[in-house]
Amino acid sequence: MARAGDDSAPVRADAPPRRFATVKGRTRERTAALNQLLFAAVILALAALVAVTPFPGDLSLFFFGVVLVFAVTGVTLVVPWNRLSLGWMALVPVSDVVAATLMREANPGGGFGLLWVFPAMWLPTSFGFIGLVGGVVGITTVLVATTFLSEAESFGYSSFLLPLVIVAVSGASYLTARRGGAQRRLLDRQAGLLSRALERTRGQEHALAEVLDAVDFGVIRLATDGSVSVANEAHARLQRATSQHEPSQPSVFREDGETEVGPDELPFERALRGEAFDGQVFWFGAPGSDRKALSVTVRRLRNPQGADAGAVLVSRDVTRELEALRARDALVATVSHELRTPLTSILGYLDLVIDDPGVPARSRDRLEIAERNAERLLGIVADILRASSASRSSVELTITPTDIDIADVLRASIESLQPRADERAITIDDSGIEAVRAYADGDRLRQVVDNLLANGIKYNRDGGVLAVGSATNGDSSWIVVRDTGIGLTEEEISRVFERFYRSHSARTEGVVGTGLGLSISRDIVRAHGGDIALRSTPGVGSTFIVRLPATRHSASPAPRLPEREREEHDDEGAAR
Ligand code: ADP
Repeated sequence: MARAGDDSAPVRADAPPRRFATVKGRTRERTAALNQLLFAAVILALAALVAVTPFPGDLSLFFFGVVLVFAVTGVTLVVPWNRLSLGWMALVPVSDVVAATLMREANPGGGFGLLWVFPAMWLPTSFGFIGLVGGVVGITTVLVATTFLSEAESFGYSSFLLPLVIVAVSGASYLTARRGGAQRRLLDRQAGLLSRALERTRGQEHALAEVLDAVDFGVIRLATDGSVSVANEAHARLQRATSQHEPSQPSVFREDGETEVGPDELPFERALRGEAFDGQVFWFGAPGSDRKALSVTVRRLRNPQGADAGAVLVSRDVTRELEALRARDALVATVSHELRTPLTSILGYLDLVIDDPGVPARSRDRLEIAERNAERLLGIVADILRASSASRSSVELTITPTDIDIADVLRASIESLQPRADERAITIDDSGIEAVRAYADGDRLRQVVDNLLANGIKYNRDGGVLAVGSATNGDSSWIVVRDTGIGLTEEEISRVFERFYRSHSARTEGVVGTGLGLSISRDIVRAHGGDIALRSTPGVGSTFIVRLPATRHSASPAPRLPEREREEHDDEGAAR
């Protein structure tokens, strides 16, 4: 998986990073050099002062001290302190104490003893408590010894002030160094914690990358500025496959495979514009070429404040699925078309024979049964043809709604199906039918009602009841068909409106059917601007409720929802 900004090397969580040790060494080197340079600068200024003014003391001893300071400074700058043990560094402040002592001795009353303050400050910084005690004791001893030995010096306040100042400066610098050390340790601990957290995050990222690379659908994460921060292997594969013939800009088509999608309507562009959508199919490549169909879903991401933080775009190769569906539809359409011609001829000849007065009554009965069955067969073939030739659009094109009375349609359908109900001693209860207006195509509505009533008989038990009713609120009108049959499970309810779907019990009990009637019925009802809902309990029965516009006014075109939303909508309808 590609990840933006993947630039740092792994950090070990259990030990302080090596980089820190090097930094510490370099810091020591730099501190020694800086301290000494500062001291040398002060001495240089003093030497310049002494050179231009008369010096009331031992000038050669003074310059001996100056030379010592410069020599030590030169050595400090070239010695690689981080490679030596810390003890060697103590030689620098000790030499400074010696140089300051020489300069003080050159002119005891000149106040050069103050120069001891510099080494007294650095010793506790670099050597902690030992540096503090060593510095204070060492410098005080030198001070006392030189004061006693010198005949010129006499005891006064300054004899006490200088050691006190040195103790105070040394103590203050020791405390500051301690505080600095504590802060450094705290920082080190926090750095350790941070590096462990970083390690953990890297581990999680790695695991996520492995998971994303293992799936066969493409995943990319888009930031709001249009940059891609995550893209898995499958995405790269799909991208290669979709652009293999037209690498620069492949032509993209809608789900129908023929309507070209403009550059602004490409899934990526839509995701950038802040849109979200579910399972929309796009064909990449021109019709007739070896092209690919991708089902694309875009989900928005939100940051903790709830603002848009980009999107995740998931794409799945559905070429084979769509081709299989098309191949099935084409096969079904061809087969049913081929069946229709001979069936129509059979029906024509049966009609002729039945009308022949010379046919004996018994044979006529048998011929009529054959005719009924041939008609049913023709009906099934017509259903299959309708379903296979893009049923939804063909239904919409052939709807001619007018003001009709639903009761007329229901009664006519009951009359035609009564013989079938009688065969199985099923009572059709029409007491719920009221004269109710609907703005609908009478023939198409009859097709829907025939299907619902035929199912109510087919999937009923012998001796059961089929209740048919109608109602209106002036805006919408309803048809209710309730049976006492085998019923359907929740899972079956969610699928009965799919084309070719047949429930398990319908198949095992050998009830004849194609699984097309309900899907066509729903297409017809939706093309009117209505819908079908279903409630059912296995072993108890099912209730189908058809909603239609009551008047031309209340009729609105069927909402064209995306496939997925339509299914959810159906589920809701079914659950209601
Ligand atoms: P067909 O009846 O030709 O199989 P339909 O599309 O009309 O096709 O119905 C689809 C499936 O829904 C049926 O196969 C059956 O399993 C189920 N079904 C339809 N109506 C009922 C009903 N009234 N009771 C129980 N199941 C039904």
